[in-house]
Amino acid sequence: MSEYRVGIGWDVHRLAAGRPLILGGVTVASEFGLEGHSDADVLSHAITDAILGGAALGDIGMHFPDTDPRWKDCDSLEFLRHAQKLVEALGFRVVNVDSTVILERPKLKDYREAIRQRLAETLNLALDRVSVKFKTAEKVGPVGEGRSAEAQAVVSLHKLGSGPFHESVFPNPTA
Ligand SMILES: [Zn+2]
Repeated sequence: MSEYRVGIGWDVHRLAAGRPLILGGVTVASEFGLEGHSDADVLSHAITDAILGGAALGDIGMHFPDTDPRWKDCDSLEFLRHAQKLVEALGFRVVNVDSTVILERPKLKDYREAIRQRLAETLNLALDRVSVKFKTAEKVGPVGEGRSAEAQAVVSLHKLGSGPFHESVFPNPTA
């Protein structure tokens, strides 16, 4: 019997002038960026929580506390890589990632492929296993008023050796 897991992640950061807007490791040209202790990459944070959640390994704040100077202005792709290592140590392999960024502006569609590619490279996944979607909040609420950005993610994990999806189905160049 194959063992699959599903993890869910959500995150929010305030928008502020003079901060970079980094989504999935890609810098987006914008007047406003995201505030936070790390680089405030709201999308990478949501995906990190989804990966951890699938293996019931707690949340991003537990593994990367914002009181720790090591994570100040840190590249959030490091969180993703670390979360993936933790679940792999338990025998899980990330199968796919689906995600949504909710941001009023700028429009993000021109960044979709760059973001998917950066996430796929970071997680050693084929591009067709990484989905990134964009929504606005229709000018309603803090996101709609341009005060914050949110991201949601779902990740599925497969337990290696638990069934017909042999690991060779998921080639991992670094394994
Ligand atoms: Zn965050």
